[in-house]
Amino acid sequence: MLDKGKGAEMNLTIAAIRSGTDPVGKLPDAAFHRTLETQIGCPKCDASYNLVVDWEQASSRWFEEESRSLMRMLKKAIHMGHASGHRVSHFETSGVVVKSFVVPENS
Ligand SMILES: [Zn+2]
Repeated sequence: MLDKGKGAEMNLTIAAIRSGTDPVGKLPDAAFHRTLETQIGCPKCDASYNLVVDWEQASSRWFEEESRSLMRMLKKAIHMGHASGHRVSHFETSGVVVKSFVVPENS
């Protein structure tokens, strides 16, 4: 087993799924997922997003610290999404970029 001490890469991935919608893409790899009690809401309307993470990572003692920058990125993406009517209902980030999953329009 690798030592998961401080400084080790956690490869934390957080998905943000708009409340009332289903995930569009694949959720982060995990045996079990956990939806955090904290939601990210849009400051301009009542859209809110649930945060889904790997259960084990969410239970880690480093989670709060590790998740802070990812939360900030998701928050920014969600706030910017307001301009397009929150068409993106599923975001995911592991820290470098924020991926958007959009329902393909086939009508
Ligand atoms: Zn909004």
